[in-house]
Amino acid sequence: MTDPIELLRRQVSDLHQELVRYQLVVWTAGNVSARIPGQDLMVIKPSGVAYDELTPENMILCDLDGNVVEGEHSPSSDTAAHAYVYRHMPEVGGVVHTHSTYACAWAARGEAVPCVLTAMADEFGAEIPIGPFALIGDDSIGRGIVDTLGGHRSPAVLMKSHGVFTIGKDAKSAVKAAVMCEDVARTVHISRQLGEPLPIAQSDIDSLNFRYQNVYGQQPVKETHA
Ligand SMILES: [Zn+2]
Repeated sequence: MTDPIELLRRQVSDLHQELVRYQLVVWTAGNVSARIPGQDLMVIKPSGVAYDELTPENMILCDLDGNVVEGEHSPSSDTAAHAYVYRHMPEVGGVVHTHSTYACAWAARGEAVPCVLTAMADEFGAEIPIGPFALIGDDSIGRGIVDTLGGHRSPAVLMKSHGVFTIGKDAKSAVKAAVMCEDVARTVHISRQLGEPLPIAQSDIDSLNFRYQNVYGQQPVKETHA
């Protein structure tokens, strides 16, 4: 199986199980997509299909305007946002959206998660920023993601009063960012219960992030666009 579209259908289908495994989603509210490298195409979850019914075959192939190229179901209702990100961030190969609980609790207050843990400095290199309030149905969610993450180190944005969007060099990196986003949102929330988390000096954040993105795990390529 060497067809890149077939490989990504399987990968995107399988990665949805990670959203379930890490308890980032309930019902059908969360989705993963992947860009087909070198083509103006993406693979994304079908709308309204239960996670345990997802298969490589029922993933939807869309163009980067969100039009269905191949698939029996409608694509995810968040397809326009994913497509907008691919059109405007050529380095992005994967996008994830969730309504994970602790991250949404920050989004509901419109408050960025401050960078107060070394694991956050590693993965996000900064606070996890808040994006604008945007209604589904046009380009406004996609534009809010791109405007917030363009030039930001964080691969995750908390869209105000809504939820999490993450980006990565591929779909797996974007899923990892979604898992880590929920993990740090939970830990910093719990820390807040008994006081104010201590800030980490910007120079320390910079050096932790540089080491993690460039040395740790022998990753020569940074996972995000920044
Ligand atoms: Zn949503």
